[in-house]
Amino acid sequence: NKIKSKFRTDPKYDNINFNTWIGPATPISYDGNVFVLELPTDLHRDYWEKQLVSKFIEYAYEITQTDVTPKFVVKGEDTPDSNTANIRDFHNKNRVPERPRVDPHLNPNYTFERFVIGQGNQMAHAAALAVSEDPGKVYNPLFFYGRVGLGKTHLMQAIGNKVLAANPNAIVKYVTTEKFTNDFIDAIQNSKMQEFRKMYREIDLLLIDDIQFLANKEGTQDEFFNTFNALYENNKQIVMTADRLPNEINSLTDRLVSRFKWGLSVDITAPDLETRAAILRAKAKSEGLEVDGSIMSYIASQIDSNVRELEGALARIKAFADLKQEPITIDLVSEALRPLKLDKERSAITPETIIKTTANHFHITAKDIKGKKRVKAIVVPRQIAMYLSRELTDNSLPKIGDAFGGKDHTTVIHAYDKISEKVTTDIDLRNQIEDLKNEIRH
Ligand code: ADP
Ligand code: MG
Repeated sequence: NKIKSKFRTDPKYDNINFNTWIGPATPISYDGNVFVLELPTDLHRDYWEKQLVSKFIEYAYEITQTDVTPKFVVKGEDTPDSNTANIRDFHNKNRVPERPRVDPHLNPNYTFERFVIGQGNQMAHAAALAVSEDPGKVYNPLFFYGRVGLGKTHLMQAIGNKVLAANPNAIVKYVTTEKFTNDFIDAIQNSKMQEFRKMYREIDLLLIDDIQFLANKEGTQDEFFNTFNALYENNKQIVMTADRLPNEINSLTDRLVSRFKWGLSVDITAPDLETRAAILRAKAKSEGLEVDGSIMSYIASQIDSNVRELEGALARIKAFADLKQEPITIDLVSEALRPLKLDKERSAITPETIIKTTANHFHITAKDIKGKKRVKAIVVPRQIAMYLSRELTDNSLPKIGDAFGGKDHTTVIHAYDKISEKVTTDIDLRNQIEDLKNEIRH
């Protein structure tokens, strides 16, 4: 239950994801190492093995402070007896003569091979590859920044996996900033600073994820500064990620900010349509899923925010097709994705935010948009904002009219039709609307 509530509070897993995949898991047994989870279908097992297992291990570690080995069984597939036999088997098979000194906490799926290169991540990928081939020598520290779900963690761990593959004796450690902070606090509370420092300084490659969470934590920042210096002075490689630039992280001390500038900072931006389609193709292939090219493009056009959502969409489509025993068609896809789109954006976006963002975008005011002026420089943005209000929210036409300073719903539908028609031929307008959608969503 503790693990489930961690999943529930993780923004990466929305309600649908939670209810579909995580909620139905039932704990069967836990012997201090192996944790057996029972799942309702093969599909669930598949999904847990591919998508959730590393988070599960991470959460279990946070709660128990030990490594927990999850095992997934599908309901009705195994008798309780064969279950225990399986576990025993598992133990024997996995008995390693000597545990590595440091568990790197890497997800084995996060490799360069599985990373699709495209516009938006090309530079980051090249830098990651260079560092993995020559850790501590080329870009130190290497820093990736960009919004959530764009592959920062994947790329960072790919470096770790590659370094370990080339040199199994290398000491690689992946930690979230949260984990680093917790370890630090634990060390202070239990007078274990020496162990803490030893653990974080005897490392060849430190991967530290989401350092925006260092914001407003001065003590942890100090300790991180010391860790950083100790590693750096010994030519050990440091790779970091954040959702923004260091100087945009609230109260990050100047000395840390300036340290981060010693190396290379690369941003990762959202994949374009082509890259999204390529990522989908790669994911579908690795899951043995047969999907038509045109359907791939359709999915890629529907899900345009980040890669994690693309993965979620594909998993839902797969589940739908399996449960309904139907082939994957455009209809099935749009049915499968409808709640995702409803849930995700419609709740957060209001005509108000659309009006504000559109006004900003066109350098006019929200008042202009809500007003009655009939000059072109205002009419067009007004129509675009109406169009977007209908596209991106669930508000009724009259309600949208109200938000636009009490306009009639026929005005809204007229604007909607007009823009809908224009975007089919006007590329500039289409691009502008794409940009606006992105601005509104974020
Ligand atoms: P971030 O750390 O930036 O929030 P993640 O690294 O967790 O993003 O990526 C989210 C998911 O998307 C992961 O499952 C990752 O494997 C996948 N992903 C992101 N970018 C790519 C890519 N270029 N190719 C293949 N998979 C990707
Ligand atoms: Mg991440």
